[in-house]
Amino acid sequence: MQFNTKLLHGKTSKGYPNREILPPIAQTSAYRYDSMEELEEVFLHKRMGYAYSRIGNPGVNAFEQRVNELEGGAGAVCTASGMSAAASAILAAAKSGDEIIAGMGLYGGTIGLLHDLENLGIRVVYAPDFKKETLKRLINERTRLIFGEMIANPSLKVMDVPEAAEAAHEAGVPLFVDSTTVTPYVARPLSLGADVVIHSTSKYLNGGGNAIGGVIVDGAHFPWNFEKHTALAGFEKYRKMAFSVRLRTDIWENLGGCMAPMTAFLNYIGTDTLGLRMERILSNADRLARALSALPGLSVNYLTLPDHPCHALAEKELNGYGGGIVSFRAGSRKRAFSIINSLKLPCIASNIGDVRTLVIHPASTLYLQASMEEQEAAGVFTDTVRISVGIEDIDDLIEDFTSAVKSAKE
Ligand code: PLP
Repeated sequence: MQFNTKLLHGKTSKGYPNREILPPIAQTSAYRYDSMEELEEVFLHKRMGYAYSRIGNPGVNAFEQRVNELEGGAGAVCTASGMSAAASAILAAAKSGDEIIAGMGLYGGTIGLLHDLENLGIRVVYAPDFKKETLKRLINERTRLIFGEMIANPSLKVMDVPEAAEAAHEAGVPLFVDSTTVTPYVARPLSLGADVVIHSTSKYLNGGGNAIGGVIVDGAHFPWNFEKHTALAGFEKYRKMAFSVRLRTDIWENLGGCMAPMTAFLNYIGTDTLGLRMERILSNADRLARALSALPGLSVNYLTLPDHPCHALAEKELNGYGGGIVSFRAGSRKRAFSIINSLKLPCIASNIGDVRTLVIHPASTLYLQASMEEQEAAGVFTDTVRISVGIEDIDDLIEDFTSAVKSAKE
């Protein structure tokens, strides 16, 4: 089955209690049992059942299974946000005294999280790129995982996942990939060698810009070394599932960052149209990037443009797609603001992956807390404008951007 057919009719699309086509929303905090013995059995994992919605909820499980199927994983856990997914995933595999390697130029919120982790005693070593030689130089005996974005937001640097996975695996550490900007429609990092994939579902998976959420998918093919990965102590018997089990029954459950039942439902119906939306977004982004490149005074950053430094890698790893983010440098902050303010269609908003086109000036918003070095690594300059391309009719978008650029004040 191809992408959309499998999505709508795959094995995780069936089996709801009253033959509902969509998973019912179990809007409940707890579950009622007829006897104390029954509830005890549920707590002891001797009986299938739900006890409390922070720990498990049928509608949330339905969305977990759907994303797991889309990514080709062995198990998924939904979280309250993309940040919660990154935090829970890292904390399930690394603890105080450990080191992790993270890409420079990640999404601004993730950079903030890495600073917090350093305060908690996890040393973060920053990788300028994910080339094998670079990673081999940075990995040492305390390294516990490598974390990066497959298409970095907004720099659009692409991670060569097979190459990074090879470097990680040769050193006995797993590769964690934030695939938010890629989506399983474009590429599936687990099939390219990554071990754990995370998403902010707030973006393309939800697609309607109506709920904050996240998800962690474990491929369960990484052979954990329990003498090295002491964060997994006590979970040795689960072997390749040790990360998933620790995540679900310990870190995620105790941090409390669960996904709300209504969010899971909105995400479920959002993903119904993931393939259709992505097809349109990818084609719109490509056409808009080419139209912007033809305008005077703009330097456009988009992966399908032949002079992009990651163009060849995108051709190979992303099936020639460029993703839904286009950015450009306007020449000055004043001109960037003027272009944004002159646009009639896009919303000035701090999000990506919406069906509506969104624009933002990242340096004065998302990267306010980041150092100049971190901003430059993320491809954020004082004149950078980020566009999250939507599904509008492309001629309207091109006309709007063209007239905004032409009328912008220097
Ligand atoms: N990862 C990436 C690549 C993002 O773009 C974002 C948000 O923009 C996040 C993670 C954080 O997700 P959330 O806002 O759902 O916490």
